[in-house]
Amino acid sequence: MARKQSKGSCVYCGKELAKAGMTKHLVTCSKRQEAIATAESKKGSSEAIYHLRVQDAYRNEFWLDLEMRGSKMLLDLDDYLRAIWLECCGHMSQFSLGGAFAREVGKRRKLNDVFQHSGELTHIYDFGTSSETVVKCVGVREGYATTKKPIALMARNNMPDYRCIVCDQPATHLCMECLYEDQAEGTLCDQHVKNHPHDNYGDPLPLVNSPRMGMCGYDGPAEAPY
Ligand SMILES: [Zn+2]
Ligand SMILES: [Zn+2]
Ligand SMILES: [Zn+2]
Ligand SMILES: [Zn+2]
Repeated sequence: MARKQSKGSCVYCGKELAKAGMTKHLVTCSKRQEAIATAESKKGSSEAIYHLRVQDAYRNEFWLDLEMRGSKMLLDLDDYLRAIWLECCGHMSQFSLGGAFAREVGKRRKLNDVFQHSGELTHIYDFGTSSETVVKCVGVREGYATTKKPIALMARNNMPDYRCIVCDQPATHLCMECLYEDQAEGTLCDQHVKNHPHDNYGDPLPLVNSPRMGMCGYDGPAEAPY
């Protein structure tokens, strides 16, 4: 749906950058360096902390840069992905190495065991209408976490630039009937959502920043849990 180069914002300094430049920016971002220095000045224990680039396998304009503590379990990552992107009706999920369904990795495994030599995990949510997410380890630092939580959100994509299928103005809603029955994108602006003729799948849903939009019963809120 979105055709422009995807952009996102750095959580630390607020700077907007292209997806391709974000990982590098986070390494040098002075505000992030300050947050790490503050963490290092407190009591705590040092551990391996992983920089993860997370993206939807098919709609790569949806991406996240996360930092996750090596002592935490994949279960924590599963919870996070469900909250920010995926949860619709409590479907099953699974992590695997070597591609979707290739070699399952138990959710109780710690990140330290999974990413010993870097690598790439695939996460599947819902074995029917599947959402497939690729989790890539792009860096490791030894040090103190900036949060007591398992994961810190460092950056995420901006809402893709959806356009109304009628007038090409920015879209705010999605019609599931257009999507499923007419193979149309189904994105509608504030004006054209008002008397849109379709209701077989209920009213058009407000668009949210998630790759699961338009799948199963997903209707957001697509907000980071922390
Ligand atoms: Zn920054
Ligand atoms: Zn569902
Ligand atoms: Zn319109
Ligand atoms: Zn429609």
